Amino acid sequence: MANFYTDVISQDARFGSLTRVADPSLLEPLMRQLVEHLIWSARQMGIEVMVYETYRSQDRQQALFNNGATKLRSVGVHHYGLACDLLRMVGGEPSWKGDFSFLGQLAHSSGLIWGGDWGAPNSKHSFVDSVHVQRCTIARQVDLFAGTWYPDDAYNPYDDGQHLLAAAIKAPAMKPPAKAVAPTGARTKNKRA
Ligand SMILES: [Zn+2]
Repeated sequence: MANFYTDVISQDARFGSLTRVADPSLLEPLMRQLVEHLIWSARQMGIEVMVYETYRSQDRQQALFNNGATKLRSVGVHHYGLACDLLRMVGGEPSWKGDFSFLGQLAHSSGLIWGGDWGAPNSKHSFVDSVHVQRCTIARQVDLFAGTWYPDDAYNPYDDGQHLLAAAIKAPAMKPPAKAVAPTGARTKNKRA
């Protein structure tokens, strides 16, 4: 199945990168457009945000898992160019501090799933990643990781009703992070999906 992952990401020199990648060109094109629009919209609200991480290799995911920065050992949605972490700019520095609910609002209106509620705002979530947005539901991740599915331009996670329901049912069983996310601004203290 030809898609952005097979055609671009897997051919890129940074495929196995252990360092953080913030290049928007490794976001799937529609994802990239939505993220760029989201940044623009945040600016209209008076909030300056920056792209902190786009693509993440499997090796980097493993390294982050080993030092406790993520709960996902192997692949994540970042590996497919379908997730992005956005930080606030505070005093010229990227920061995890403050309220990221604006990101939830903007993600929802852009057709992106926000890590603050995973597309199911009425469910309780044991794992919250408020700087993270992605262009697929949690339930779709199984197919994405298996290589049997990749979103086309018409795909909208919020129309993916059956999958959203599955995500909502699944959510309570998700393993909580080892430590509650504290807005310290130190990235090693934050869990990432
Ligand atoms: Zn993320």
